[in-house]
Amino acid sequence: MKSAQTALGQLDRRYVWHPFTQMRDWLRREPIIIVDGNGAVLRDAAGREYLDANSSIWTNLHGHAHPRINAALRRQLQKIAHSSALGLASEPASLLAQKLIQSAAPPRAPSLPPRPAQPRLARVFFSDDGSTAMEVALKLAYQFALRSGRGRHPEFLCLDSAYHGDTVGAVSLGHIDLFHRSYAGLLFKTSRVMSPYCYRCPFNRAKPERADAREYRQCHWECVGKVEQKFAARKKRGNPYAAFVFEPLVQGAAGMIPQPAGWLGRVAEIARGHGALLIADEVMTAFGRATVAAPSLLACHQENVHPDFAALAKGLTGGYLPMAATLTTREVFAAFLGRYDEFKTFFHGHSFTGNQLGSAAALASLEILESRASIAARQRLAKTLREELSSLWTLPRVGDIRQVGLVAGVELVRNWKTREPFPLREQAGIRVCAAMARRGVLTRPVGNVIVLMPPYCTTAIQAQKMIRVLRESIMEALGTGG
Ligand code: PMP
Repeated sequence: MKSAQTALGQLDRRYVWHPFTQMRDWLRREPIIIVDGNGAVLRDAAGREYLDANSSIWTNLHGHAHPRINAALRRQLQKIAHSSALGLASEPASLLAQKLIQSAAPPRAPSLPPRPAQPRLARVFFSDDGSTAMEVALKLAYQFALRSGRGRHPEFLCLDSAYHGDTVGAVSLGHIDLFHRSYAGLLFKTSRVMSPYCYRCPFNRAKPERADAREYRQCHWECVGKVEQKFAARKKRGNPYAAFVFEPLVQGAAGMIPQPAGWLGRVAEIARGHGALLIADEVMTAFGRATVAAPSLLACHQENVHPDFAALAKGLTGGYLPMAATLTTREVFAAFLGRYDEFKTFFHGHSFTGNQLGSAAALASLEILESRASIAARQRLAKTLREELSSLWTLPRVGDIRQVGLVAGVELVRNWKTREPFPLREQAGIRVCAAMARRGVLTRPVGNVIVLMPPYCTTAIQAQKMIRVLRESIMEALGTGG
């Protein structure tokens, strides 16, 4: 076993270039080589078991080797794995498109005030991953903006610290300097506006004390005001923004930063008031990840926000296969209809668009997602996480604990009283995650934030272990802080 592990490790280090990884550091270590998985457990080539505490980079929903998804894939494999969507239709992709439109319909909520006619998502464009789903939304929005008279140079307003993927269009929408700065010369210009980060809110006068840690009492929605100002300034100059791009409820790669309840509803209304299209990046938040048991698969519906575009990926296939979808409205679709020689066609597509295996996995995953057993499990897991995470407040290296549904982030700080961050070069997050891996729990940090985003099948005992290991690892890697 050990020698197989070593041989594979050598191959990896010799030939593979890993994403978002400083390969000089990687080459000094023996990699963990995953050979199989079951539920929330991953096993490596040496036979060691780990809990998958970030659902394999936020993709897995119901656990690994889920019998129903496996069976659906086997059934599909007996028919065909892939056929092109360029010129051909397929059974699973057609069924999946219908299912996505049905499941992304806004829930009927009598308690919410009725709004004027809202866009309704009615069409699905398939692609491969979160980046391409956003790329599609961006290109569709750009052309639709041109065709619907939203200016000759449609511009996008995005959020500070936004991350929407790694293709050049998606990077242009992103505003995390560390990732995006190095490509500046390649990108097109987009504007950015302040996004909420309550823990480090420049307007917040709440004292950095434990008792106050989760209360931001003196909020006057200054961050909403910033969005309003941005749109108003553009209007004055006569070139309003064509589209507003956002992750609903929580900004993932920014550090699992939640938006306070009401923020998204407010800013979306401002954007709409200025005629901007709404592009919801639901790559991380959809499929119950941020909303646990909500009836719609889109998280933005929780804020009564109805986007013109919604990008889905990661959990779409239950985390099994690379597949993505961009949902949009009848109006957008209609703007691309015309005589052949008008060339209004959407000139975009990928070889694996609408992949049959991926579609079959997605259909099975959505069925599981809507089952009562899965909804109940998600509710239990969200509660367990909340209870267990609260025990970490006593650690002096823990500045903030954030949880939105089944997404949790623990922000590590040098000094909890002053909220002084660890400089990135100290690799606080990386060191804590390395200590967690040694104890059998796998996750990846975003900067100084430790992410916990377990698969929905994670048991209470497994969730408790994840948080116990996180506690021990923070103490081991960062000390007790005095
Ligand atoms: N949007 C969001 C919100 C994401 O979190 C990610 C990936 N972390 C992406 C887009 C890009 O997805 P992918 O890595 O599948 O291209």
